[in-house]
Amino acid sequence: ENIEKQLTSVIRDIPDFPQPGIVFKDITPLLQHPELVQAAVERFVERLEGIDFDVIAGIESRGFLFGFLLAQRLNKPFIPIRKQGKLPFHCVSESYKLEYGQATIEMHEDAFPAGTKVLIHDDLLATGGTVVAASKLIEQLGAEVAAYCFVISLDFLQSAGRLTRFSEKIISLVHYE
Ligand code: IMP
Repeated sequence: ENIEKQLTSVIRDIPDFPQPGIVFKDITPLLQHPELVQAAVERFVERLEGIDFDVIAGIESRGFLFGFLLAQRLNKPFIPIRKQGKLPFHCVSESYKLEYGQATIEMHEDAFPAGTKVLIHDDLLATGGTVVAASKLIEQLGAEVAAYCFVISLDFLQSAGRLTRFSEKIISLVHYE
């Protein structure tokens, strides 16, 4: 059985979370299968072949899981992108709209030098608002987005188009149409 099918079989749907009408994709059962986690990391490695990047930036908090594993696997630096107020040093920040209200994410201003090629990782691509804001953080430091990678992409939200201003390379292991 291929890895994508195995991933789909352990990703769980939680209806009405975090609010009524939303079906939340829950990757926590996947974390109980170390051999599947390792296979997913290897699949990312294969899919990233030929893409030139220097560092991996992972988005709080589920983006830290595979983002950090992948960075270690590829011997690349890992950069955490966090919600406002969590990082201890001087930060660049970006605010973006949520369905209700707004959110702000931050990254340390000395995370990497200008010109760095950054792979952005998060667990899931939904509307794309989060990774667009993350891309702007990277541009604030004069760096560029080399590619994006996700465990899951909700393709029915058609967010990929919003990311192409920053990079055309978008990799997702599992797609929901
Ligand atoms: P976006 O900004 O609308 O693309 O939402 C993506 C962000 O929200 C990511 O950081 C995800 O972790 C989180 N997210 C949105 N929907 C889900 C879901 O169904 N499962 C897990 N995370 C989700």
